[in-house]
Amino acid sequence: MQIVAKCPQCDAGLPIAAAGAPGAITCGRCGRDIPLSISEGVREDRAVDRCPVCGGADFYTRKDFDPKVGLTVVVIGAAISAGFYWLGRDLVAYSILAAAVFIDLIVYQRLKEVTVCYRCHTEFRGAYPPTAPAFDLHTADVLEQEYERRVGRR
Ligand SMILES: [Zn+2]
Ligand SMILES: [Zn+2]
Repeated sequence: MQIVAKCPQCDAGLPIAAAGAPGAITCGRCGRDIPLSISEGVREDRAVDRCPVCGGADFYTRKDFDPKVGLTVVVIGAAISAGFYWLGRDLVAYSILAAAVFIDLIVYQRLKEVTVCYRCHTEFRGAYPPTAPAFDLHTADVLEQEYERRVGRR
């Protein structure tokens, strides 16, 4: 399992491999030491049961989607489409635009899922079956505030 640990102090993303991860890492941006307690499930890529950074057990699942990639496909599609539209080939223009949106949709559906810690936003990618529910704004509000008070960010 690949983990992107989030620094509690500066929120930098620190990639680590769960198997063979050390007991602590140092943030490359702010120099803070971050102790890691990696559970069996996480180390063996079986389940995300406990967050190694904050110790929390509340996670959500989201698509591992880079919005920039999706936007690029649509923007390129729109540009080509505008060219055909300008040439008076409306139907071709609309088809290309529709195709771009369709490609976007396919890409989105084939994406892997990523599990994210509600409290510290550490991300977990791997072969484990994603069991965490979808993102819930209310839960996020409560848990994020609790965590930020704990690490002294507010
Ligand atoms: Zn940091
Ligand atoms: Zn966490």
